[in-house]
Amino acid sequence: MEKYWNIFVSSFTDYGWYLWHEVLNPSWGNYFYWLIGLSLFFWLLEIVKPWRQHQARIRQDFWLDGFYMFFNYFLFSLVGFNAISNIGVEAFNDFLGLFGVKNLVAFEVQSWPVWAQLLTLFVVRDFIQWNVHRLLHRSDFLWRFHKVHHSVQQMGFAAHLRFHWGETIVYRTLEYIPLAMIGFGIQDFFLVHIFATSIGHFNHSNFHVPLGPLRYLFNNPQMHIWHHAKRMPRRYGANYGISLSVWDYLFGTAYMPEDGRDIELGFEDVEKYPKSFMEQQLHPFREGGKAELPKVPAAEPKKLESA
Ligand SMILES: [Zn+2]
Ligand SMILES: [Zn+2]
Repeated sequence: MEKYWNIFVSSFTDYGWYLWHEVLNPSWGNYFYWLIGLSLFFWLLEIVKPWRQHQARIRQDFWLDGFYMFFNYFLFSLVGFNAISNIGVEAFNDFLGLFGVKNLVAFEVQSWPVWAQLLTLFVVRDFIQWNVHRLLHRSDFLWRFHKVHHSVQQMGFAAHLRFHWGETIVYRTLEYIPLAMIGFGIQDFFLVHIFATSIGHFNHSNFHVPLGPLRYLFNNPQMHIWHHAKRMPRRYGANYGISLSVWDYLFGTAYMPEDGRDIELGFEDVEKYPKSFMEQQLHPFREGGKAELPKVPAAEPKKLESA
């Protein structure tokens, strides 16, 4: 038990020092400054070439989402997730040890070139996340947490990281075993994280760039806005892609009936949803009760994909 307690305590102190070190030492390998840099970059794009020109530069909930960004990227790790996950991993390994299993690796990719390992990690992780995202919409219990992300009514880059900390736990837990089964030789997932964060910021930004055929591969603001549509043709929504849109095209969940620039966002009664950070954090635990429809069903789509 002492071992777990030590892991718990050192997780807080280690991460505290790590974050402080990041803040004090700007460099190209620094998450803290990359997050700030990417955010300024996409904000600048929104200012210079906005898709919805009437939308304020500092849109509704801009500061709330700015806070979410730092909370979910840094502070949540600092105040708990790091400790929970370190203990979880240790306990899981101890549990496997009871059965004589020393490691989970089923596919050795260590001998591959680094770029191929990074690409594999990116694609496999994105596919797992696509599935987890679908689950967040399918399960009434998980939808209560995911609604925080869907409570965005005016879209902009910072909405990317508006989500409940419960989602981090669901994603990380469900990702863990499949990713642990692939024996990556790379220790540093930095590039994959930064790349995924950039696409996430891009998907939510108030910016239009014609991607041509690349839109069938990469998620983008014109596709992701339909994921946030208040009215969807199917109960559980569409366009679940995180970084890649290709999964939605492959599995028939892509939905872009028309230009979604000015569509209404959110869900039924989104106007009554809590507006403050603390209220939004508590709401999923209070909501309970009977299952509800996640989306307002609407008429059939005119066509499934706009050319
Ligand atoms: Zn969603
Ligand atoms: Zn989103």
